[in-house]
Amino acid sequence: MQMHEGHHGSERDVVCNMTVTPTEATPRSTHGGTVYYFCSQGCKERFDRDPAKFVKA
Ligand SMILES: [Zn+2]
Repeated sequence: MQMHEGHHGSERDVVCNMTVTPTEATPRSTHGGTVYYFCSQGCKERFDRDPAKFVKA
């Protein structure tokens, strides 16, 4: 089994649909074992309040 070495490039902010390029300072949350990245602390807070609203199972 081979692990992918992260993927370079971008993640999608599921709150506002913006593309974000994660850095050390990027707000993030883990939900259901997946890490989600956000463009801003505000988006992270909206996600944390109700993750199920933004994540389709
Ligand atoms: Zn956002």
